[in-house]
Amino acid sequence: MKQSVALYVHIPFCAQKCAYCDFNSYAGLEHLFAPYIQALTGEMRVYVARWGSLRVCTIYIGGGTPTVLPLSLLTGVLAACHASFEVINGAETTVEANPGTVDESYLAGLLAAGVNRLSLGVQSLDDSELRLLGRLHDADQAREAYHQARAVGFCNVNLDLIFGLPGQTMARWQATVRQALDLGPEHLSLYALTIEEHTPLAGYIAHGELPAPDDDLAAEMYEWAEVELAKAGYVHYEISNWAQPGFECQHNLVYWHNQPYLGLGAGAHSWLAGCRWANVRIPQIYIEAIVGGKQPVAESEEIDRALEMAETVILGLRLVEEGVNFGAFRARFGVEFTDIYGSKIEELANLGLLEVTRDRVRLTRWGRLLGNQVFQCFLPDPC
Ligand code: SF4
Repeated sequence: MKQSVALYVHIPFCAQKCAYCDFNSYAGLEHLFAPYIQALTGEMRVYVARWGSLRVCTIYIGGGTPTVLPLSLLTGVLAACHASFEVINGAETTVEANPGTVDESYLAGLLAAGVNRLSLGVQSLDDSELRLLGRLHDADQAREAYHQARAVGFCNVNLDLIFGLPGQTMARWQATVRQALDLGPEHLSLYALTIEEHTPLAGYIAHGELPAPDDDLAAEMYEWAEVELAKAGYVHYEISNWAQPGFECQHNLVYWHNQPYLGLGAGAHSWLAGCRWANVRIPQIYIEAIVGGKQPVAESEEIDRALEMAETVILGLRLVEEGVNFGAFRARFGVEFTDIYGSKIEELANLGLLEVTRDRVRLTRWGRLLGNQVFQCFLPDPC
């Protein structure tokens, strides 16, 4: 049987670097757009030569800002995916887009090229917060991009929002969430801001120009949003993700089910056939490697069975309702979940962090707020 994967394609370009961002993305590399896309198709050929035509169940083009590319280059990436791999019929195909980089004709072009899910990097619907984050768009442009997506026919739209910003009040967060809900997207991703070292935002905080984010308030914002989104009919299916029923992100579910994925492009990660690897991060070096006929891989590691089990549990616990299903664990690893993790589960359940039912284990509400501490306990060198 053909190997089935979720396919991720990384576009590491942005029009400008946001103040909080430490993603693998770069501004001012427009001269690399075309050679980079060529290199991506070269990398596809490498995998086809090694694996034959892989079966692709989802495609996700992320970044960076994929929509800074001219439409023809971005649709060319999709065409190359379809030419290189066996993409299943109706595969969920997502493109990340930033308001201010798309208009109706661009969005119509994406839809015509087979993109059936749009993920808009809205982040906030408050102009002062967008300025603080260093975003290039304002709230009106975010709303406009959303309405344009609807006008051209997108029926599956995600909005990304960030909470826990320096100086953000609960009232401003509530206003953003309520306005986002009024738009009626199929999917919402709500992320707590993390202050990454060496970003301008970290510098402003270190120099006292901005207050440090308030973690307790951020937790209250998250809990408020959980209630509000439930009232609006969204299913909280992953720690940071909510969807109208049936619109859960199929691509990300592959990650959370710890199933194989192939990442193409600078800094992209893959997990396939017991091995995990990451490509070189710098676009120029990535291009040079492909042009020179070399593997663009920066690091790789074998994933042994113990680590695969641990990662399956850690990722599965991110799924709010589903959690880790004992039957699925037994089918995958040939052992009982409780034989491996019984005492750990009992300990964490006694602390109120996990809920154990007849057929699964999942995080409690309290556990979701302390997810990282819970996850640590499952690593092969445990707490
Ligand atoms: S648009 Fe996204 S990837 Fe680009 S700099 Fe801003 S946060 Fe980073």
